[in-house]
Amino acid sequence: MATTALERKLFVAGEWVETGDWFEVRSPYSGEVVGRVAKAGAEETKRAIDAAESAMREPLPAHKRAEILVRVAMALGRRHDEVARLISDEAGKPMKAARLEAKRAMSTYTFAAVEARKLAGEMVPMDAAQAGEGKLAFTLRQPIGVVGAISPFNFPLNLVAHKLAPALAAGCAVVLKPASQTPLSALLLAELEEEAGLPPGWLSVVAGSSSEIGDVLVEDERVKAITFTGSGAVGWKLKERAPKKKVNLELGNATPVIVAADADLDAAAKALAANSFSFAGQSCISVQRIYVERSAYDEFLQRFLPAVGALNVGDPGDEDTDVGPVIDADAKERILAWIEEARSGGAEVLAGGEERDDLIQPTVIGHAGPELKVSCEEVFGPVVTVNAVDSVDEAIELANSTRYGLQAGVFTRSLETALRAARELEFGGITVNEAPTFRSDQMPYGGVKDSGNTREGPHYAVRELTEERLVVLTLPS
Ligand code: NAP
Repeated sequence: MATTALERKLFVAGEWVETGDWFEVRSPYSGEVVGRVAKAGAEETKRAIDAAESAMREPLPAHKRAEILVRVAMALGRRHDEVARLISDEAGKPMKAARLEAKRAMSTYTFAAVEARKLAGEMVPMDAAQAGEGKLAFTLRQPIGVVGAISPFNFPLNLVAHKLAPALAAGCAVVLKPASQTPLSALLLAELEEEAGLPPGWLSVVAGSSSEIGDVLVEDERVKAITFTGSGAVGWKLKERAPKKKVNLELGNATPVIVAADADLDAAAKALAANSFSFAGQSCISVQRIYVERSAYDEFLQRFLPAVGALNVGDPGDEDTDVGPVIDADAKERILAWIEEARSGGAEVLAGGEERDDLIQPTVIGHAGPELKVSCEEVFGPVVTVNAVDSVDEAIELANSTRYGLQAGVFTRSLETALRAARELEFGGITVNEAPTFRSDQMPYGGVKDSGNTREGPHYAVRELTEERLVVLTLPS
């Protein structure tokens, strides 16, 4: 836990500014104040957009953008302990997971630097059509314009990195609104970008009133793209309100996993126990619904339940803690109510199901009907359902019976089952013999259905934040 609370100004138009209004960031574990942050509203957001627009009038060459991105990656490496501790303090994330996140952010910046250097359009084969004879054509990849970025609380560093680093690689200036519960890591990243040589205006971080800042980002025509990671309730509304902008959405999931009878049950149980509960299930791809072929159900549970029981629940500041608190009291109350609904709806609580020392214990629910909230809504807490199914076909049908479509997984030794699952599961990504919580930062990552409409990962995000401009040259005859 931080011994002294940080006082953080906003980073607007290349300056660290106060607004006369402050808000507190509290540890989700101890309730202690870990930071005080200057609160932004419409005025600071407009100033940030003004600065972003004028910064982009003098484009930064690709090699300079790449050098800045590499310097940020190196600074994240040098300041690893401090960065991981900050994530843990403000998000209540166990240190193990916070360290992993800090390392992944280095990787995100490093991959973005590569993308900055190789950003290019393509040749168009003009003489493939008669009309194109005597012409040479190619495309340029132009930055889309000023980007408004909005990020969630659960990966306060790396999901901010997935907004800032590809935008800079693409040549776009950014106005970022981080989650109010976790703005400190984003402000630290702004400090690192400034130290790495980012000229004024290319990045502003406006923490504060979501509705005021959101309204300006939606209404200001100079903001050409909004990149949003968070809940569907907020994301789809933003898209509706900004029909002329590109609105890239990375949203939630109710992540399913199929365990076929022929799977390596030891490996499946181990991977799924860890990935149902890491960061108390508050990852958009936390394992939430496990479907096990009936003949392997008991054997799977015999391995899975002890692995869940072995997780250390406690202070996120301890290096050996696996499961810490959820983000706030409202989230805790909601999750406990959903567990109660499952219990009274005929499901069987096989582990956890209660809070101890203010922490929801890792909860495993068997025989969970499809109508229960823990089955069909995103729990975003330390809760997983494990149901027996008669066949892989039934498992695929149940896995797909959701409005979400981010990632899903299958454990099997059969190539045929793996490929069938890959074809038939309606999700943006499918993992085979790995929990679908897996993400490496260069992967194309994103969902279908209610889970979103875009792909992140620097290569893919840069494509989303640039536009192709066609150039046709008529050759002298
Ligand atoms: P959230 O409540 O939707 O908040 C996300 C961001 O939106 C925050 O910065 C929030 O600001 C802001 N916001 C809220 N209302 C707004 C408005 N009217 N206009 C503009 N911005 C607004 O989500 P969360 O609770 O932080 O995060 C959890 C959700 O994110 C889950 O559904 C999870 O699955 C999803 N998620 C998805 C991915 C992915 O890559 N697909 C990754 C991580 C998380 P305030 O904090 O100030 O309210």
